Amino acid sequence: MNDTIASISTSLGVGAISIIRISGNKAIEIANSITKKKRLLEAQSHTIHYDFVIDNENIIDEVLISIMKSPKTFTKEDIVEINCHGGIATTNKVLELLLRNGARLAEPGEFTKRAFLNGRIDLIEAEGVMDLINAKTEKARKLAINQVDGKVSDMIKDLRGEMLTLLANIEVNIDYPEYEDILEITNKEIKEKIKTVEETIKEIIKNSENGKIIKEGIVTVILGRPNVGKSSLLNLLIEEDKAIVTDIEGTTRDIVEGKVNLDGILLNIIDTAGIRKTDDLVESIGVKKSLDLINKADLILYLLNNNEEIKIDDIEIINQIKDKNHIILVNKSDLDEKIDFSKLKDLKFIKISTVNNEGILELKEEIKKIFNLDKIETSDLTYLTNARSIALLKQSLEIIEEIKIGIDQDQMVDMLEIDIKRIWKILGEIIGETYQDELIDQLFSQFCLGK
Ligand code: GDP
Repeated sequence: MNDTIASISTSLGVGAISIIRISGNKAIEIANSITKKKRLLEAQSHTIHYDFVIDNENIIDEVLISIMKSPKTFTKEDIVEINCHGGIATTNKVLELLLRNGARLAEPGEFTKRAFLNGRIDLIEAEGVMDLINAKTEKARKLAINQVDGKVSDMIKDLRGEMLTLLANIEVNIDYPEYEDILEITNKEIKEKIKTVEETIKEIIKNSENGKIIKEGIVTVILGRPNVGKSSLLNLLIEEDKAIVTDIEGTTRDIVEGKVNLDGILLNIIDTAGIRKTDDLVESIGVKKSLDLINKADLILYLLNNNEEIKIDDIEIINQIKDKNHIILVNKSDLDEKIDFSKLKDLKFIKISTVNNEGILELKEEIKKIFNLDKIETSDLTYLTNARSIALLKQSLEIIEEIKIGIDQDQMVDMLEIDIKRIWKILGEIIGETYQDELIDQLFSQFCLGK
């Protein structure tokens, strides 16, 4: 980690300016070597300098250079940022000069990795930086910034603190049993304490489901036989939000997937019309294929046609989605009612029409109800959002179960202590106080270049 790294930190392409970032012991020296004025070595920390980047005697660009000296920087190392004119050729040329003068091209996420390894941020905060970059809605942004500024880390640190107090009490009891003024800690007391920790962890896991929804959105699949109006529904939902439509090339339709912002929560909608080969969905992709989609979905919108009878295929798929989050929509309510509702038995449905907008508000309200979106609105958004942390919390819960069994079997307190220490350690892994190198490499490689 002693070498000096450099990378383009802004996105590649044409823009007004591009920023090239350099971090490491030689950051200032290397940057200085490619400037015309060569005055950066005597520059004060946290100052900006007007200069020219040169290659031998040739001027490459007119730039502004920020100098930030260790340790008050993102990586805790010396950092130099060169603001050059945007454009691929200029930016690449400046980067190339830096590399030629002793810097190494940074790997994806390497600046943030250094910030973590140098103790500037913990793992949750680092993951928050990545989430912040990828945030597509205001809620996702808030969630990520709470991770970046340490709110989520504090929640885990508090839990760890409680485990530590418990461990300290147990130790004192084991080491100084003869002192009468020490509060004797009994298995019953340990059980009570562990129970509150268990409740907190369960609450965090429950909330983290909301976190996942905020971060990744709700994968929504529209299913139904051909011509019931799946694409019409997708287009209608997207209409208000055209800016975030994804175009997927090579499909029979332009849009098979769209993102809709529902009160700050992203619905990632997949319209199965786009993947059908023939006109008959059930025939072409078969029940198996729809099953795959059903498994992938957080929410299934199943469309029926008000103007047609319900077919056996409909009943078959409806039976498969019954236990998942689903909404049955009876489309084309503007046409004559030919549908036989008795086949739906006591299943709930919403009547809609994509032609005159009927039932669309009701559909949105139902989605909000299913995912408790109104509740997410009022909460403070300090959730764990990544699978890694959630898996570790679930691991802690398993150990808590073992402790509870141990207590019921009157296990020696020293044995319980070992398990409590394990939980303390696992909680440490969440914030990165204890970690494995491979995990760190894998995690930071998911970042974009220059971050
Ligand atoms: P898909 O095959 O399920 O994607 O169905 P489409 O969205 O392509 O719609 C099939 C046909 O039904 C088209 O001609 C639409 O204009 C029509 N359609 C869709 N929704 C409605 C509706 O609510 N009312 C009426 N009357 N026609 C509709």
